[in-house]
Amino acid sequence: MDEALDHKGRNCWDRYGSETEMQAMDGLAGEYVDFLTRCKTERETVQWVLEQSRAFGFSEDIQQGAVVLPFRGKAVLLARRGENPLAEGLRLITAHVDTPHLDLKQHPLHEECQVGLMKTHYYGGLKKYQWLARPLALHGTVALADGSVVSVCLGEDDEEPVLTVLDLLPHLSRKQREETVEKAFVAEKLNVAVGHVPSLGGKESRVRQNVLELLHARYGFREEDLFSAELQIVPAGKARFVGLDRGLVGGYGQDDRLCVFAAFKAFMGAPASAHTQVLLLWDKEEIGSDGATGAKSRFMEYALTDIMEVWEPAARLRHVLGRSKAVSADVHAPMDPDYQDVHDKYNASLLGFGPVFSKFTGHGGKYGASEADAEYVAWFRALLARDAIPWQMAEMGKVDEGGGGTVAKELAVYGMEIIDFGPGVLSMHSPFEVSSKADLYATVQAYTAFYLS
Ligand SMILES: [Zn+2]
Repeated sequence: MDEALDHKGRNCWDRYGSETEMQAMDGLAGEYVDFLTRCKTERETVQWVLEQSRAFGFSEDIQQGAVVLPFRGKAVLLARRGENPLAEGLRLITAHVDTPHLDLKQHPLHEECQVGLMKTHYYGGLKKYQWLARPLALHGTVALADGSVVSVCLGEDDEEPVLTVLDLLPHLSRKQREETVEKAFVAEKLNVAVGHVPSLGGKESRVRQNVLELLHARYGFREEDLFSAELQIVPAGKARFVGLDRGLVGGYGQDDRLCVFAAFKAFMGAPASAHTQVLLLWDKEEIGSDGATGAKSRFMEYALTDIMEVWEPAARLRHVLGRSKAVSADVHAPMDPDYQDVHDKYNASLLGFGPVFSKFTGHGGKYGASEADAEYVAWFRALLARDAIPWQMAEMGKVDEGGGGTVAKELAVYGMEIIDFGPGVLSMHSPFEVSSKADLYATVQAYTAFYLS
C-alpha cells in the first residue's frame, strides 16, 4: 500500500528521542513537577502566573506591549502585542485553573466520638471514595472583618500534620459492599478529621474548642471568620515521577494545570510575532464556567477592551475576536489500559502520542458541543506538520458513554475559530492524575508553533 495514503500517529518518544531533546524534556518535566506541587488551588495558580510573568517583564501597565491583567486572584489575561493590527485577530490560548476538590462548608467545625471534624461540600466532578483514607491538606484564604486576608496552607510541609477523611473498615462493610458506588459514598460523610485532643478549658465539645484555639493561635481567626473564607481540602504532598523510567508525572490538579503550564511556557518562550498573543486563564470551568471569574463572565471582553483603548482605539472588539484563532487548552482522556471498553479504539488517543484535538465536545448527539470548522483543523495540522510535532485526533469515549465540556463553547460565541487541543491525562479528576512527560514536551512545542503562526 502507498504509505502516503494512510495516517499513522507519531510517538513522541521517537520524535524527541535525541539526547538533547530528552534532556530538555527532563528539565521541563522537573519544572512541571515543582509547579504542580506548589499550585493546588486557582488562587495559588494565578499567583504563580503573576510572579512568573512579572519576572518576564509583564505588568499591568497597558502602555507597555507586555500586559498581565489579573481578576480577583482567580482569573488572568496576559497579552503580548504583535506587529499586525488587532483587527487581524489574536492568537489566543485559554485554559482553566480550578480543579475538583472539597470546599469547607460555612459551618464546618463539629465533634463526634472524640474526633474533631470539618464538614465539606465537594466541588466539581469527583469520585467521592478517592478522597477517603489519604493524607489531605488545607489551602485557602480567610478574609477577616478588619479587611485583612489570611493565607492558609496546612499539611504540605513534612513537619506539619495532615488532615484525612475516615473510611469504614472492611469488617463492617457488608451493607456498604452491596450498595452502588453512588449510594455507598455520600457527600455528607466527607468530613475531615481535624483534631482529637480536648481543650483544658470549657465543659462541652472540648476537642472542637481546642481546634478553634489552635486555629486562632496559628492564623488569628475565629469561628465567624470561616463564613468569609475560601478553604479547600486538597491531596497533601508533592507531585512525583511515576514508573521505573520516570516517564510519567503523577500529581493532583493536572486537569487543567498541565495545559496552564504548557501554555504559559509556550507564551513566555515565544517572541513577539505577527499576531497579538493572548493567554487567558479561567476559574470555575469544573462547575460550568459561571460566575465573575468563569468563562461565561465578561472578564475577557472588559480586559481586551481596556487593552484596545490604549493600543488601538479604532479597533472593534467584534473584529478582533471574530478574526482570532484560539485553542481551548484542556486535557483529554486517552485510552485507559484497564478500561479500554469505554473508548472507541478507532477514535481514541494514546498517552505519549502528543496533544489531542477534540473537534467537538458535549455528549450524546453532540449536545452542548462547540465544533471546530474543518478548515480550521486543516490549517492547524499544516502548522504542526511544519515542525513534525506529534498530535492526535480523537473523541473522548464511546458515543453515549458520557461526555464533557470545556470553555471552547463560551469563546466560540464571539465567532473566533477555536478547538480543544491538549495532552491526555489518566486517572482524570482523581487526587493523583497521571500524564506523559513526552506529551507535555510536545504540547509546549505545539502551543509555541500556534503562538508564532
Ligand atoms: Zn479541564
